[in-house]
Amino acid sequence: MIKTLCFLFVASFASYSSSSANNQEDSQILEKNTISSSQKKLFVLTSTKTLQALIQKIAGDLLKIESLIKAKQDPHYLSAKPSYMLKANKADLLVLNGLDLEVGWLPNVIKGSRNPKIQKGKPAYLDVSDFIKPLSVVETKVDRFFGDIHPLGNPHFLLDPIKAIKVSKAIADKLSEMDSSNQSLYKKNQEEFEKNIFNKVKEWKQRIEQSKIKKIVSYHSSFEYFLERFNLQLVGLIEEKPGIPPSSKHVLQLVKKMKEEQVVCVLYSSFYQTKWTKKVKDMTKAQVYSVAVEVGALETVKNYTMLIEEIVQAIESCKQVK
Ligand SMILES: [Zn+2]
Repeated sequence: MIKTLCFLFVASFASYSSSSANNQEDSQILEKNTISSSQKKLFVLTSTKTLQALIQKIAGDLLKIESLIKAKQDPHYLSAKPSYMLKANKADLLVLNGLDLEVGWLPNVIKGSRNPKIQKGKPAYLDVSDFIKPLSVVETKVDRFFGDIHPLGNPHFLLDPIKAIKVSKAIADKLSEMDSSNQSLYKKNQEEFEKNIFNKVKEWKQRIEQSKIKKIVSYHSSFEYFLERFNLQLVGLIEEKPGIPPSSKHVLQLVKKMKEEQVVCVLYSSFYQTKWTKKVKDMTKAQVYSVAVEVGALETVKNYTMLIEEIVQAIESCKQVK
């Protein structure tokens, strides 16, 4: 597989022509990147749309910023496509979430990119999880065969707006280091983002308090950092382990617990539309809401503020349950 990908990569630099749709797509990307480099804009490549949105806030139009993940794709489950490697080859900076969120595909993209600048440990490799303290680190050795996709700790820290501020600062510092002529602008934009989000956090906290919702159940552990930030309790998860769908027994136990603890609010990522969320809804009086956990995962979530706003709105809607 890797061999094939490398072949495609090398072939794209020669004057090759191919009838395959994939190769055409790759050629178009290569062409676009060539245009970009002639305009001398630094090319920042991110793994996720949320990181792309954060960098856009700081850099505006100064940089070319692209995300490998398109809207509505779950970052846990992608494959290392040749087109990703071509993009990565042109990147001046790679920004990734880390904590193994992209472990199934990004390491192969980086390797296949043949871009020495963005290899792990190099200055143009920015793993933003280095700037936060992870929750739920698994102490014992994890065998991925059993589906545990969060062995280094929960990777969904960008749903905590205060952690997103920390990450934005790390990004602004890195951009300033790479492009010192625009340092003051990066600093100004980051400070503005920080101020806005900080004020929004105060507002979101108030609104969640007013909703009287204190307990949440979710499908995946996407909301762990969000819930901690807003003093909400995670009563249980619908999936049995990260990445593993539940057994009927697990769901029945969860429903029993939800009734005992009077949980009226269930959140699940729009990536996890399974029969089990409906089952929980049918068996309890809880309100069940699908929300975006990445910018772009739902049409309405176009930026970072909207990402958090929609989760807060879902929690506010839960209070209407009698
Ligand atoms: Zn996850």
